[in-house]
Amino acid sequence: MMSEVGGESCPLRVAIIGAGPAGFYAAEYLFKQKDLNVEVDLFDRLPTPYGLVRFGVAPDHPKIKSVSKVFDRVASKPGFRYFGFVELGKEIEVSDLRNYYHQIVYTVGAQSDKYLNIPGIDLERSHPATEFVAWYNGHPDYRHLSFDLSQESVAVIGIGNVALDVARILSRTIDELRVTDIADYALEALAQSKVKEVYILGRRGPAQAKFTTLELKELGEMADADIFVLPREAELDELSTASLANTDRGTVRNVEIIQGFAQRGSTGKKVKLHIRFLVSPIELVGDEEGGVASMRLAHNELYATEAGTLRPRMTESIEDLAVGLVFRSIGYRGVPLAGVPFNSDWGVILNTEGRVLNQDTQQPVLGEYTAGWIKRGPTGVIGTNKPDAVETVKHMLTDLASGNILQPAHPSAEEAELFIRERQPMYFSYADWLLLNEFEVSNGQAIGRPRLKISRIQDMIEARAASRHTD
Ligand code: NAP
Repeated sequence: MMSEVGGESCPLRVAIIGAGPAGFYAAEYLFKQKDLNVEVDLFDRLPTPYGLVRFGVAPDHPKIKSVSKVFDRVASKPGFRYFGFVELGKEIEVSDLRNYYHQIVYTVGAQSDKYLNIPGIDLERSHPATEFVAWYNGHPDYRHLSFDLSQESVAVIGIGNVALDVARILSRTIDELRVTDIADYALEALAQSKVKEVYILGRRGPAQAKFTTLELKELGEMADADIFVLPREAELDELSTASLANTDRGTVRNVEIIQGFAQRGSTGKKVKLHIRFLVSPIELVGDEEGGVASMRLAHNELYATEAGTLRPRMTESIEDLAVGLVFRSIGYRGVPLAGVPFNSDWGVILNTEGRVLNQDTQQPVLGEYTAGWIKRGPTGVIGTNKPDAVETVKHMLTDLASGNILQPAHPSAEEAELFIRERQPMYFSYADWLLLNEFEVSNGQAIGRPRLKISRIQDMIEARAASRHTD
């Protein structure tokens, strides 16, 4: 008689692709199942785990990063293995995974950004904020970038939390940044920064900003930056005022904080941080060398759609803002994985509640699932990925119970490891990551910093070899 998958003698074998929060939360919920014998192999294209917790969360937010302790606990479960530096679509393919696993979960996040289609957007010194974020966080693929911080005036387009992160990092003093794990080259570059004016630009009003309250408040508490909001832009129009009656507490608090900022004046701090509302960039104007010299803004008003959403509409009023550096912070966007159905309108894997759907039949694809930003889009905070992953895993368990799982030819941990090693002999295990982690922390502490991130993959390989040697 065939033994039951997930039972004592035949573990359910799951491959999770992408070692960010969604991947770890999916693994955590699988290990929580009392009567399930499960083995999870978690893959990442980079040697280091944690995804956006390492490369997205701002370095001056160490508390948010401490969620990595939860991930380390998941990684310590028997049955968990990590395969870092193994990329789906490069070293391994979906068809390979079907030979070794009963279920596959894609948790690759949103690796690109939304495009802002206005004249001049591709001028020099106009960048996606996502690239700046990855750069200052020491992401191996972005470490080579450079940003012209000799410009005095910078615009950040968008009023979400990423825009706040970018504006804060640009406005912090070097002493504030030194005590963080910001990449060493970014610290050096920011130490030379000439930035004096930072404009955060929202196309809608204070009641439609996507900020979380703590992050917004923090903007008014910077060591050497004053916050400015124009009183006329802090005032709500009638539609927004009415909308407050049916909104969440966070939005009401945000409006109060923004109106409080509007009452403040200069205290003579070095950087002037402005949040502007109801303005849409309509053109970036270049200088003779092809770099951004200014931005043309249209003033907006709000109108209600049939569904009741308040949308921006341009008026005839135009303004020119002199800025020499622009960051577009208007949202991340998912990128398709080869062989995995994709909804290109939304930038997510085609799925319903985490079950991947066949593009033609719209029926679930056997054994394939998704969680996190590549499932639902780039919304919510880290914790949002937990219920999101749970929803997916619940469907995986239902499908397991009804026998709707893949029938891999080699459902064995040893054979999977041999295969992966053949494709990527340099793969990083979790033990390797923990060595690298210790190495980064001790190098940081030696110079009074919490961590000195290694940002070159070659350096990670060498650090691992050196650490193994000394053990
Ligand atoms: P977001 O919260 O979706 O904000 C995007 C902003 O871009 C919105 O203000 C949006 O305005 C604006 N926008 C979009 N298209 C635009 C256009 N064509 N022109 C002008 N503005 C445009 O995205 P995010 O800031 O990238 O953050 C992603 C997620 O990560 C969010 O859920 C965020 O809360 C989370 N996050 C959390 C933290 C934290 O907790 N500390 C830190 C960073 C990120 P509309 O609303 O008008 O569309």
